[in-house]
Amino acid sequence: MRKCPGCRSTDVRSSAIPKGGDSWRDVILSRYRCRACRLQFFGIGRRTYRAGATVVGAIAIASVVLFLFSFFGSPDMERKGGRRSSADHISIG
Ligand SMILES: [Zn+2]
Repeated sequence: MRKCPGCRSTDVRSSAIPKGGDSWRDVILSRYRCRACRLQFFGIGRRTYRAGATVVGAIAIASVVLFLFSFFGSPDMERKGGRRSSADHISIG
């Protein structure tokens, strides 16, 4: 149960974002309002997990892309191995 940080009452309801009043906190956190003391506060809600999942997913994709870049994006490692030139054996005429 969610508790009010002011009066520790559990009579807390999630409140809607006021028009034009949304801030960065509304993106990550959910708004709550205590019905006992009418205090409005931010807390971790469903939105927080969704934002967290988005961030984690973005980091995962970015790390995979970086890994693939470091794996395939360095042709020097491949070139060092076998260097065979078949062009030397071609005779003209
Ligand atoms: Zn309260």
